[in-house]
Amino acid sequence: MNQLHSHPSIKAVAITDHNTLKGYFRVQKLANIYEDLTILPGVEVSTEEGDLIILGVEETPKIPTTSSSAVDFAKACGAVIIIPHPYRSMGIGDLAMKLEADAVEVLNPTATKRENAMAYDLARIRNLPGVAGTDAHNPTEMWTVCTEIKAQPSIEDILKAIRKGFVKPVAPKRATLAEMSGG
Ligand SMILES: [Zn+2]
Repeated sequence: MNQLHSHPSIKAVAITDHNTLKGYFRVQKLANIYEDLTILPGVEVSTEEGDLIILGVEETPKIPTTSSSAVDFAKACGAVIIIPHPYRSMGIGDLAMKLEADAVEVLNPTATKRENAMAYDLARIRNLPGVAGTDAHNPTEMWTVCTEIKAQPSIEDILKAIRKGFVKPVAPKRATLAEMSGG
């Protein structure tokens, strides 16, 4: 029987819906048919100060929450904390300078060039790894950017690699739907 392959180069996808894991559990089930795809559980928490991504959890903190409570929750779970689009709307803004985190989203296609540049600077100043996130809310927004990660294709290894900074945000040439579906 032929193996089903998901995408020519993207072998891991993080599902980080706003304040819910429902989408993750659905995607995980649907992705079962692919031999070469790792689905990372996560959630984008709408905190009182702005969005915060927690990666590697299968539950959400109690909402409403402050960013610092969300960080405490993530740490208790041993999860990876990512500051998404810090300077775009819904970002945590200047709080990003001091909030405990493992990485900063420095490339987000829904943020302006300037907002992404500011996020890059933040990551550099704080000496935190920079990752890319599609912020995709529908299928046409997928694959716009991705993060190259030096890791084995397992959730644990990918999370470890993000923490260690074995990551590189990239904006690949956009694959067409036809290319992605193999024909
Ligand atoms: Zn967001």
